[in-house]
Amino acid sequence: MRKYLLVGVPGSGKSTHTAMLTRDLDLVRISAGDILRWHVGHHTKIGARVRQAMAAGRLVDESLVEGVMRERLEQHDWNHGFVLDGFPRNQRQAEFFLERYDLDAVICLDVPDAQARDRALSRRMCGDCGLDYNLIGGRPRCEGVCDSCGSHLETREDDTPEVLTARIEDHRESIAALLDRLRRKAPVFVVDASRDPETVQEEIRTLLGLPSHRFGRQQGGDQP
Ligand code: AMP
Repeated sequence: MRKYLLVGVPGSGKSTHTAMLTRDLDLVRISAGDILRWHVGHHTKIGARVRQAMAAGRLVDESLVEGVMRERLEQHDWNHGFVLDGFPRNQRQAEFFLERYDLDAVICLDVPDAQARDRALSRRMCGDCGLDYNLIGGRPRCEGVCDSCGSHLETREDDTPEVLTARIEDHRESIAALLDRLRRKAPVFVVDASRDPETVQEEIRTLLGLPSHRFGRQQGGDQP
């Protein structure tokens, strides 16, 4: 059983590296942002409560996120473990999480703010299956169309210059205290995530003592 957490500013590559880790290692990706976006997209009661805060780049109500994450983790569909993306995000959420679960390691993806902004602003997401694309290094085969399900690609509502400023500031304010808290429970590795995704993923795997990502690809792990 492996339990990892990825943290980093918006645009640091949390979703990319979570997807690369889960693809061939039988781990389940648990993303707080994806779950909340699903609620917004499906017009649930929770969606109605979080929509404004998400659109403005603010963290949504703590007790609501905790409830949503508790419910998700209690599904126990993660026999081989999970990779958490975006939760816990601050000290309070870390307390909540660590009272119930442990972690094997935390990966902090370190990217300069300007680069993270550029990446986030060129991000496109499939409105249907949620697959992430990036117009800098991960374009879809056909412009504006998801390679996987053929649906229309959209820009996230919170990937605007103003909202990104708020999200990056929020991250910078909480990250030191969050990492201090997590370090008492699990090793925290800070990785230079300004490099290309393959190189960064290989370093993450070396740090975590996991088989190479390239080996997983040769096995047919993520070939289309
Ligand atoms: P992300 O997909 O991680 O960039 O998150 C998108 C948005 O979802 C954030 O800007 C917040 O509004 C909300 N969100 C995601 N994770 C959390 C969390 N752990 N606590 C509170 N709000 C969150």
